[in-house]
Amino acid sequence: MSHAIFIGIAKHIDAFRDTLDSKTHLLENAGIKIRIQEQASGRFVIFSCSGGDTGLDPLCLSLLAAAVADLIISRWEKVMLFNITKTGYPFLKEDERRCVYELALARMEHPDGEHGQLTMARRKRLVQTRLEEFLLSSSHLNVDGFVVFRLKDYLADLRWVVGRAVEDFLLEREYREFISLLRFFLENQRPRAVTVHVVVRPPGRFQLYDHDFRPVSYQYMDGLIVDVNHSEIDYEDILISALITIAPVKVVLHAPGPVCLTPHTLTTLQAVFQDKVAQCPGCRFCMGTDKAGR
Ligand SMILES: [Zn+2]
Repeated sequence: MSHAIFIGIAKHIDAFRDTLDSKTHLLENAGIKIRIQEQASGRFVIFSCSGGDTGLDPLCLSLLAAAVADLIISRWEKVMLFNITKTGYPFLKEDERRCVYELALARMEHPDGEHGQLTMARRKRLVQTRLEEFLLSSSHLNVDGFVVFRLKDYLADLRWVVGRAVEDFLLEREYREFISLLRFFLENQRPRAVTVHVVVRPPGRFQLYDHDFRPVSYQYMDGLIVDVNHSEIDYEDILISALITIAPVKVVLHAPGPVCLTPHTLTTLQAVFQDKVAQCPGCRFCMGTDKAGR
């Protein structure tokens, strides 16, 4: 094994030093010698890591790889994510870029099943393994260059995450615009009922009733009793269109069981109708004991 390993870094030097210190203490407690020296060289600080007379213990290589992997995953990753939002999506405004960055960070911290390889533990393992392989054949490590040239698949993963975050952001923006359009329609509609009761039954079937629990007249809307077996969006569109057409002062949602209203539908109704919408705590329609509600 080489007598020394030289690690050159230009950013997060204090954090790297702290990580290295805590890890070398572990080795020293186990009786393994490692000596770290620092030297400035231009914008870099070079950490030279050497052992006793017999050279570096093989465990030191793993330790150094773990310390650099820590640095990359805990510090550089955030900077890289932000840089990708900047260079890859120049059409985003500053505040939009910040939103995308936050969404990307959240995705990194809670990766979904399909991309479970993006968990922090896995990312760190990947980076550490590459570092160990590299340090076996080279005693000089430039962390900047290593990330760019030896972690191309890892960088591709980060770009993928930012891409999904941009999609999330654009969808969210589209949704907000959709909600404000619906609110505009609602505010400009003459109320045709004081209260409308919405009775929802699976799968996607609903009926509307007035304040006396009489079916709402068909004069306002064609087909207020609707069966939709296609998609959730169709069902939501029809329900919301019906309610906006009637523009009631109050909407009461009756839904037996947890499956009748999806969280998305509920969120949309609450966003559009705001404090005009309320959920029934339980009545004969909810319990399914009333004929009209079936
Ligand atoms: Zn009810």
